[in-house]
Amino acid sequence: MARRFDGPRLVIASHNAGKVREIGDLLAPHGVEVVSAGDLDLAEPEETGATFVENAVIKAEAAARAARLPALADDSGLAVHALGGRPGIHSARWAGPGRDFALAMRKLEDALVGHADRTAHFACALALAWPDGHVETVEGTVHGTLVWPPRGGNGFGYDPMFVADGRDRTFGEMEPAAKHAISHRADAFRKLVAICFDTRTK
Ligand code: IMP
Repeated sequence: MARRFDGPRLVIASHNAGKVREIGDLLAPHGVEVVSAGDLDLAEPEETGATFVENAVIKAEAAARAARLPALADDSGLAVHALGGRPGIHSARWAGPGRDFALAMRKLEDALVGHADRTAHFACALALAWPDGHVETVEGTVHGTLVWPPRGGNGFGYDPMFVADGRDRTFGEMEPAAKHAISHRADAFRKLVAICFDTRTK
């Protein structure tokens, strides 16, 4: 049995204000009050894990220990099957210090030359850690195919190259709400809410 969050306060182990707001909105219906790692001035740990889950756990545990409150962290990226899962946990790094995703997508396309398999998936790991060391983790995915050239100005990161299975438009061309309904992040949150936040199953 997963441990349930019995709140009310939860630290979001991120210094990204957009992400904190989005997670706060997702959890508000469950009576959760969120505070960010940035607001609490918590240090950001080094992401030394080998997987999305390991990195989410590192961030959640560090925040829970420092804040003495339960803490939620995420880690996400794009895994390209012909490239053995790359860029994976290095997805953001492929864009360089200038966060240039036109460059990252070009690098990805260059790496795919000669590969017939253009399938990939986005993954999002969530870790919910308590100050006593207990951790719950979930992982969400969305599978699809990479297209070239990139299409659409919505979303972020690798969205303009990614067409989810059963769709024609890239994530960059989809309305945000349509992407959010099927995304790896939505999948992960549905799983986490079901095991840790959903009061209907208490
Ligand atoms: P982070 O987990 O927010 O640090 O994201 C890691 C990186 O993965 C991002 O910088 C993007 O490159 C990539 N990524 C994660 N989720 C998405 C998505 O929904 N669309 C496009 N790129 C994504």
